[in-house]
Amino acid sequence: MNIALNPLLDFSDLPQFAAIKPDHIGPAIDSLLDQSRNVVKELEEPIAQVTWENFVEPLENVTEKLSRAWGIVGHLNAVVDTPELRAAYNENQPKITEFWTELAQNLTLFTSYKALQLGPDYAGYSAARKKIIENAVRDFRLGGAELSEEDKPRFAEIQEKHAALTTKFSENILDATNDYALFVEDEAELAGLPDDAKQAARAAAEKDGKTGYKFTLHFPSYFPILQYADKRSLRETIYRANATKASELGGKPEWDNTQNIVDILKLRDEEAKLLGYKNYAEVSLVSKMAQTPDQVIDFLQDLAQRARPFAEKDLAELRSFAQKELGIEKLEAWDVTYASEKLREQRYAFSEQEVKQYFPEPKVIAGLFRTIETLFSVTIKPDTAPVWHPDVKFFRIEKDGALIGQFYIDLYARQGKRGGAWMDDARGRRRLESTNGIQTPVAYLTCNFTEPAVIDGKTKPALFTHDEVITLFHEFGHGLHHMLTRVDELGVSGISGVEWDAVELPSQFMENFCWEWDVLQHMTAHADTGAALPRALFDKMIAAKNFQSGLQTLRQVEFSLFDMHLHYDYQPGGKQSVQDVLNAVRAQVSVMTPPEFNRFQHSFAHIFAGGYAAGYYSYKWAEVLSADAYGAFEEAGKASGNVLSGDTGARFLREILAMGGSRPAIDSFKAFRGREPTIDALLRHSGMAA
Ligand SMILES: [Zn+2]
Repeated sequence: MNIALNPLLDFSDLPQFAAIKPDHIGPAIDSLLDQSRNVVKELEEPIAQVTWENFVEPLENVTEKLSRAWGIVGHLNAVVDTPELRAAYNENQPKITEFWTELAQNLTLFTSYKALQLGPDYAGYSAARKKIIENAVRDFRLGGAELSEEDKPRFAEIQEKHAALTTKFSENILDATNDYALFVEDEAELAGLPDDAKQAARAAAEKDGKTGYKFTLHFPSYFPILQYADKRSLRETIYRANATKASELGGKPEWDNTQNIVDILKLRDEEAKLLGYKNYAEVSLVSKMAQTPDQVIDFLQDLAQRARPFAEKDLAELRSFAQKELGIEKLEAWDVTYASEKLREQRYAFSEQEVKQYFPEPKVIAGLFRTIETLFSVTIKPDTAPVWHPDVKFFRIEKDGALIGQFYIDLYARQGKRGGAWMDDARGRRRLESTNGIQTPVAYLTCNFTEPAVIDGKTKPALFTHDEVITLFHEFGHGLHHMLTRVDELGVSGISGVEWDAVELPSQFMENFCWEWDVLQHMTAHADTGAALPRALFDKMIAAKNFQSGLQTLRQVEFSLFDMHLHYDYQPGGKQSVQDVLNAVRAQVSVMTPPEFNRFQHSFAHIFAGGYAAGYYSYKWAEVLSADAYGAFEEAGKASGNVLSGDTGARFLREILAMGGSRPAIDSFKAFRGREPTIDALLRHSGMAA
């Protein structure tokens, strides 16, 4: 194959989706890895004076190509999976991982970054360049680059063991989940369950060659029982099985995660101490917006205290409803979801189906674009580009007539497309020294909504649920962060280099507009009549929005505090057990203590197998920022009568979206809001204002 004709190696403009075939992947990646390693080798040569131009720029130029090409492969693998593509992806992925690991451990590069930081040019660099150098030095340090030669082998061993244990942790959950089966013979025992849940259980039993109904611990299988099954003992059985899975109380002994949890925490603690920190929570916060574990704990305790009266009220209402309406004298853990669903139905009688009729795709997309255009003084226009599927649409964003970014939207679920919704970058904004021009950012926006129905040969526009509309706005928030950046340096433009606990600010911020009457009026049109959303239905949606928000807030705080304490003041293997830590947190914040047998921590994959260790608080933390930022628009709306305030939007664009990762998120927030963030707006939005 002629490498010069490989479309994955064409970086002149947008990806050549129509031309890229699985056969191109291996040769392209090998060629880019060779190029990258050659550049790294050249950069390792001794040099009199390290500068941005002779060091960072060549490294960035070559690794950007690798990231962009591999980004295309990863994107295709996620949205148009085929056996050939998957094979090529899996074959090349280890090579990519190996290269980045090599780079992260290259001490010569580390030395050059440090030399840059201490060099004569540093003071004159832009804030963005300084931040990139600072981040690089920080990441090398956290990767163990400054450890003594004696400590290095142990550090590497810790990384390896930790990776193996976290993998085992999630495998145990998966094995325990897959192993469990509850067979129900008599349909009468399933009273209350929706038909689709019953049909799925019936099909699962048939697949096993059995009669009756089969339930498993996969969420779509067990959750409808907790939510709808009238038979209490059935709910209890499945609740117990789920709450004890992968523990000493449930599943096979070899799937018990008890020891894995302790061992994972021990390794993290040891790693933190090798790096010179007191505990792992401190390590986790080095690259986050929150400054200290105490600051996070104070924030969570404050939130718990404020939410508590509302949670108590939620629970009292639920208990009394369960007694009076459902004949449940003492509300147990396996009754909560069931009783809540019944209470919700009684209080807010409207169906998702009814709401959906008001959100046809063209109206929603137009409403979204109008919101963005009004807020940020930009224009969104249809554009053309090679795409990976006929459903994909492509657009450009212009400001004062000039192109500033482009994006693909791939809205519908289909075979071979990974579930969920996400934003990903196809390329980032940067100034190209060679041409002195700007490389404009490009984003992928991917959702999994229901595709348009074809009725009597005619295509009807897709109808979105309100949740789907919120998801769309959320992902566009990430997209705007990426595309409206004005930063010229790739490493901190758009979402690059933004702190983990602040990255959801723009996305959650955008969700708020989906709850605004002024916005919804222009974004809704009934599929049959074309009428806008009626005010009465909107009021019901608003009322239902904050159903049990006190209880839900306390639940999130409980998980977050548990996570923080485990990585902060808990001694793995000491006198206090992990269960003791959880019990202490529950005693402090929960209004309803789960049963003694509950082992939720044994499947808490976010912190034991995902990237959320000492970081689970990020969800609530970012919500404070996004709610408070949105508060500025509410204030402007009160003054002018329009929440889509162009002045406030311009400021949000200038101080937050445009700045990307080029300065600390707290500085961007304060520049926008003129003060530190406060929790008030979040409480108000959740119906928990004092
Ligand atoms: Zn998000």
